[in-house]
Amino acid sequence: MTELNALKGIGDKTAKLYGRLGIDTVESAVFYFPRDYVQYEPLSEAADFKENVTTAFEAVVVKRPLVRRVRRLSITTVTLAASSVEVSATWFNMPYLAQSLKIGETYVFRGKPVIKGGHYHIEQPQIFTREHYDEMLGRINPIYTLTKGLTNNSVTSTIRKAFDYLDGNYSQEVYDMHFPKDEDTLLRARRKLVYDEFLAFILRLRLIRAADTAQNDFHIVECAQCARIIEKLPYRLTGAQRRVWDEIREDLCLPRSMRRLIQGDVGSGKTILAALAAVMVAANGYQSAIMAPTEILANQHYEYIRSLVAGISSDINTVLLTGSMSASSKKNVHKLIETGEADIIIGTHALFQEKVTYNNLALVVTDEQHRFGVNQRSMLSSKNTDTNCHVLVMSATPIPRTLAMIMYGDLDISVIDETPAYRKPVKNAVVGEEYRQKAYDFFEKEIKAGHQVYVICPLIEESEGLEARNVTDTVQELNAYYDGRVRVGMLHGRMSGSQKQDIMDSFANGAVDILVSTTVVEVGVNVPNATVMMIENADRFGLSALHQLRGRIGRGSGQSYCIFMTGNDPGRNKRLEILKSTNDGFKIAEEDLKLRGPGDMFGLRQSGDVRFMLADIYADADLLKKASDEADIILQSDPDLSKPENKELRERVYALGITDDIASSM
Ligand code: ADP
Ligand code: MG
Repeated sequence: MTELNALKGIGDKTAKLYGRLGIDTVESAVFYFPRDYVQYEPLSEAADFKENVTTAFEAVVVKRPLVRRVRRLSITTVTLAASSVEVSATWFNMPYLAQSLKIGETYVFRGKPVIKGGHYHIEQPQIFTREHYDEMLGRINPIYTLTKGLTNNSVTSTIRKAFDYLDGNYSQEVYDMHFPKDEDTLLRARRKLVYDEFLAFILRLRLIRAADTAQNDFHIVECAQCARIIEKLPYRLTGAQRRVWDEIREDLCLPRSMRRLIQGDVGSGKTILAALAAVMVAANGYQSAIMAPTEILANQHYEYIRSLVAGISSDINTVLLTGSMSASSKKNVHKLIETGEADIIIGTHALFQEKVTYNNLALVVTDEQHRFGVNQRSMLSSKNTDTNCHVLVMSATPIPRTLAMIMYGDLDISVIDETPAYRKPVKNAVVGEEYRQKAYDFFEKEIKAGHQVYVICPLIEESEGLEARNVTDTVQELNAYYDGRVRVGMLHGRMSGSQKQDIMDSFANGAVDILVSTTVVEVGVNVPNATVMMIENADRFGLSALHQLRGRIGRGSGQSYCIFMTGNDPGRNKRLEILKSTNDGFKIAEEDLKLRGPGDMFGLRQSGDVRFMLADIYADADLLKKASDEADIILQSDPDLSKPENKELRERVYALGITDDIASSM
C-alpha cells in the first residue's frame, strides 16, 4: 500500500480531503468508482441556445472580470461574446477566476443559459479549454461523489495519476469503470466486477459456514416445560410453526451447533419459537441470549417471555438488559448473568458488550436479523463465549427466496409460510388528502368499537425544505380535531428510552387510542388490538418498509385497515397499488424487483444486510446466481481455497473480513 501523497500534487492537506472520501492509499483511489457518468454535448451556436437546457459553447472574454462582495459571498461577473451574441456569466465564491480568465481569450463554457434583461445570462458555468473539451467530447466521463474542497476535475485527475502510478498493476475492468472507451465497455466492466464481488462474498459465507459447523458439548434434551407452554397458549401453533419448532428441537439436542435462520413474514409468529427454544435451553440448565434491534422490541419480548414462563415454572429466571438502563441496574443484571442466576437474557446489542460475561451461554437468538449485518452475525457465536453456541436468527426480510438462499448461505433456512388461520387479511386503501377528514372519523368509529390506531409520519417535526407530515404537528392536529374525545400519544426516535417505553406501555394497555409515530414502530412491535394504520406520505417509503409497517396491524382477530395517504395524487403511485393488491411480503419483494428492473444500475444500494461496492442484489440477481454456482464448483475441488490457482481469490475473500477462529481453521 502506498500513501496517497506519493502522487504528484497531493500534499498532506489534500490527502486529508481524500481521506474523507475513504481514499487513503493510491491502491484504494482506483476503487473509488464514479457515482454517475456524463457525456458532453457538441458545441452549440448562440443562435441555437435553449433556455434552461445544458449547453456548451465557445465564447471570448470581452471585458475584464468584475468581482463584487455581497456580505460573505463573492460574485465574479464576466461578459462573453459567443460569435456576436453577448452572454454574461457569474460565479459564486470563485474570485480567482478574475485572474485566470484572460481578456481576448476563447474558452468553452457549459451550463444552462437563461434570458435576463434582454440578453443571455449563465450561472456557474463550467470552464474548459477547447482542447480539453474536445478531448472529453465523445467520451464517457466519470462523475464522483465529492467533498468540500475537491472538484470533480481534481478527483478525476488524481485517479488518473493513481492508475499511472500503479503502472498496469490493476485489472482492465477497474480502469474501464472510470474511463470507459464506450458504453459497452462500461457495462461489461461493471458486470465482471459485480460478479467478482458476489463470488468473494458467497465464498466467504460458505467458509464461515464450514468453520461454524462446530461441535459443542452441551447436553440438551426435550423438556416438559415447552409442552406445557404450548398447551397453555391461547391459540394452536400453525403447521408451519410446529414444523419449524421440530427442526429447532432436533438441532438443540445435537452435539453440532445450530445455525438456523427462521424466515417468516411479519405476523407469522416467530417470537413464540424463540421463546420455546430459550425455555428448552433453560430447562436444561443453560443460558440463552435473545437480541432485538430496538429497546422497544427488547422490552416487548421481555414482558412476553416472562409472562409465558411465569405460568409454568418458578425457577426459570428472565432478565432484561438494554443500553438505556441505569448503570446500577445494568451492573445488577451483569452479575445475575455472570453467576448464572439469569437463564433467559433479553436485550439489545448491549448483550454483547465487553462487560457482559455469560456463565454458560448455549443459545443466541437474533430477532429481525436484517437489522444487523453479516459481520455481527458471525461474531455472535464467538464473542464472550468459549463454546460454540447454538445460533438462531429470525427475519422477515422480504427478499425473494432464491436470493435468500444465497445471501444466507451460511445458515440452514426454516420458512414459516403460513399465517395463523383465523386472521383476516388487512384491507388497504390508497387515498389522497381529500380523504383525511373521513379517515379521522373512521379512526373515531374504530376507537369507539374498542380498537386502536397508528398514524405514521416520515418526520419528527417540521423541517425546512421537506414537504412531509411530521409527528409533532399531527399530534396537535388530531388533538384539536377530537377535542378530548380521543387520547393521542406520540413516539419517535429522539425520545429517551424510558419515554419510549412509557408510551409503548400506555399504547399496549389501551391508555392511548392513537399512536402517532415515526417508523420506529416498524420492527416487531406487537399490539394486536390496533386495527388501523394510516401512513402519511406513503410514497416516500420503500415497499418493504411499508410492508413491515403494515405488519403492525392485522395481528388480532378483528378486521384491520391500512390507509396509504399520498397527498393529492393518489393514482400516481404504482408501487402503492402493489401493496393494495397483496399482503404477501415475498410477492411484494418480487414485484418491487420487477418494477425497479435493472435500472438505477450505477446506484449504490444497501440491501439492508450487506453493502456492496457496486453490486445490487436485486438488479444483478442473475450474476448472483451464477456466482453462487461457481462458488460451489470451486469449493468442491478446493474446500479451503488453499490451491495455488485460487490464491488471488482467497486473498479477496479474506479482504472481506473473516474472524480469527475461522482463519485458523482454513
Ligand atoms: P412475527 O413473526 O412478526 O415476529 P409475532 O411473533 O410477533 O410475529 O406474532 C404476531 C402475533 O400473532 C402475536 O400476537 C402472537 O401471539 C400471535 N400468534 C403467534 N402464533 C399464532 C398462532 N399460531 N395463532 C394465533 N396467533 C398467533
Ligand atoms: Mg417479530
